[in-house]
Amino acid sequence: MSSGKLYSGPILRVAVDVPMRQLFDFLPEHHREAQPFKIGTRLWVPFGQRKQVAVLIEAAVGSDVPYKKLKTVLKQLDQEPLLSPDILRLLGWASEYYHHPIGDVVINAFPTLLRANKPFKAKAEVINVWALSAEGRQVDTEALIRSPRQRVLMTLLCSHAAGLTEQQLNESGLQWRPVMKRLLQKAWVVGFTKPVSASDGNKTDPSDAVQLNQAQSNAINTVQQSFGTYNTFLLDGITGSGKTEVYLKLIEVALAQGRQALVLVPEIGLTPQLVSRFKTRFKQSIAVLHSGLTDKMRVTAWLAAKDGCVDIVIGTRSAITTPMPRLGIIIIDEEHDSSFKQQEGFRYSARDMAIVRAKNANIPIVLGSATPSLESLYNQQQNRYQLLELPERVGAAVEPTIQVIDVRSQTLHDGLSQRLLDTMRVHLEQGAQVLLFINRRGFAPTLLCHDCGWVACCQRCDSHMTYHHGRQRLRCHHCGAERRAENACPECRGSTLVPLGAGTERIEQAIKERFSDVGVVRIDRDTTQRKGALESILNDIHSGKSRILIGTQMLSKGHHFPNVTLVGILNVDQGLFSVDFRAMEKMAQLVVQVAGRAGREEKPGQVLIQSHHPEHPLLQTLIQKGYGHFARQALQERKAADLPPYSYVALLRAEAVDTQLPLLFLTDAKQLAVAHQINGVTLLGPIPAPMEKRAGRYRAQLFIQSAQRSVLHQLLTPWILQLEKLKIARKVRWSIDVDPVDIY
Ligand code: ADP
Ligand code: ZN
Ligand code: ZN
Repeated sequence: MSSGKLYSGPILRVAVDVPMRQLFDFLPEHHREAQPFKIGTRLWVPFGQRKQVAVLIEAAVGSDVPYKKLKTVLKQLDQEPLLSPDILRLLGWASEYYHHPIGDVVINAFPTLLRANKPFKAKAEVINVWALSAEGRQVDTEALIRSPRQRVLMTLLCSHAAGLTEQQLNESGLQWRPVMKRLLQKAWVVGFTKPVSASDGNKTDPSDAVQLNQAQSNAINTVQQSFGTYNTFLLDGITGSGKTEVYLKLIEVALAQGRQALVLVPEIGLTPQLVSRFKTRFKQSIAVLHSGLTDKMRVTAWLAAKDGCVDIVIGTRSAITTPMPRLGIIIIDEEHDSSFKQQEGFRYSARDMAIVRAKNANIPIVLGSATPSLESLYNQQQNRYQLLELPERVGAAVEPTIQVIDVRSQTLHDGLSQRLLDTMRVHLEQGAQVLLFINRRGFAPTLLCHDCGWVACCQRCDSHMTYHHGRQRLRCHHCGAERRAENACPECRGSTLVPLGAGTERIEQAIKERFSDVGVVRIDRDTTQRKGALESILNDIHSGKSRILIGTQMLSKGHHFPNVTLVGILNVDQGLFSVDFRAMEKMAQLVVQVAGRAGREEKPGQVLIQSHHPEHPLLQTLIQKGYGHFARQALQERKAADLPPYSYVALLRAEAVDTQLPLLFLTDAKQLAVAHQINGVTLLGPIPAPMEKRAGRYRAQLFIQSAQRSVLHQLLTPWILQLEKLKIARKVRWSIDVDPVDIY
């Protein structure tokens, strides 16, 4: 009998979707031995008054729960594991690192249909395929004189890099099965399956059409040498320098070795071009995981990836936990993008999880960006990441010139300076397209009564309502509240209500008045909600029907508009004076990304930035010396202020309808933390959140900071368990955010 245990028999330890930071013990079905249950399968278990899905994490012996209290598993839902040991290890790590309940982390790794009480059978019909392994490709087939049948098959496999199907092998007329068995034993070939629908054999292979430049070849060679070992590469290449081409080539190499590739992108809906580029390059099966899929489509794609039937998975952050048995490389495109961090519930960073996954799997990971995050640049400086640079644009394309327009004391026409308007004219007359960037949708961010000074505010948030002219409505962009715009001031009945400031809608109207002869299009969340709307807008841009493009940051992502030669950036100042220490970094990334849309081909590009603070030092560095210099200077500032990446931060947030409770909870929490007396941890706050009231709740936060990651977690681990037991914790909504990206 194991010492100290209340029960000494076989036990199944499972994760259940409940907000508790623990695994739960169950007895095997009909008191069977724990052995036949496979780790990573789903079980159906009684839990409280309900029954629910659980995932088997561990088959153990002995429990701290007495036998009488242990319940029995009702049934096993899957024959084979859905989550492989490597994925379970990743989820376990994430649960610990982000201090989020394991059950929630594990259950959320499944597509919705697999969270329900049904064994879900994969429908995809598959065919078997065999291809040479990395080792197999090293073999000198000519030397196999004593095994002529192996030599013939090896030669045949050599000429089919993507692999041979059962049908192709049968058609070859060879007695191939026993020979293949030998080759598998020698590990010279790998066998896998593909869905029947995936076409192959007719691969057009347009990759040969692209003559890689020196920098691209260097990058590819370096990563290729790392295949089969862990390494994080930072692919730092300006927009249009051919990063995507590098990804494509690396994936091609991985696939030729019988491996799978995982590609994470910020938002698939916004970059149809990227996905179509993958689809034309690879005839192999690609699974695209994005929010537009039905539950059925998603589970089918997920299972196909898990069974190794698809070679490439492209997805947004949640795709990071997709099981892929032959995974050979991970690529994170636009690694700086904040959408890789989930901001609610399980607050994980998909980029950081991807690095852990690559490390566990012993494979290379490539972080690509034109504007790498300060964290990644810092890690590269510390030699944790290996730098790969693509310093030049491909072909004739040159980098655009960037200038600032000082708009102080100038008359602005609906937010547009005369110089910008004149320059637009010049570019349009030359037949080019113009892009105007303003990071704010709607007509105006404020509606003001000219007679008494009343301002339309959100009743649930500390914020103004945004005026949407087209629908005559006021909307809060923080909580979604909406109402009809007043015709008269509710305070003084005055009828002079003035929209202050400009959003995309206002700019669109002003531009249409001034450039009535030119096609104008607006791209923001309001104009692209309908399915297919963005595609049709993009078509009009590519056909030249739309020549002035007005949009929010949706425009900054990955698009290739070869005919755009002028980019105007209208509201850069917001980012200069924010309370969020990352605001400057985000502003710089946006400016560079948006500027990168200009002059992508032969035509040189010009970028004009309107600002009330043209002399701002970081803005000046960015414009005159580029992002690299900006980043170095910004890192210096972070270092001086002891901010990430020079320290590690967690944020304890609390919110409640009551004004006082969040601060009271955080004050109690702080006392508990102080009592731990851990050297090297600084507690800042509690303070009200920058926007204290949001969606009818008051919010406050407490910063926890340390120079060492391990010290930070040394506090967090026991502290969070204590917080859960606080009475006041039940009266507020609270959460812990490790490595927060938004301080709001
Ligand atoms: P990025 O991803 O860095 O923005 P892309 O890979 O999209 O750059 O390359 C920009 C454009 O140049 C694309 O149209 C791409 O097809 C093309 N391109 C990339 N590499 C080469 C090359 N070596 N030779 C010719 N064209 C290239
Ligand atoms: Zn008024
Ligand atoms: Zn609101």
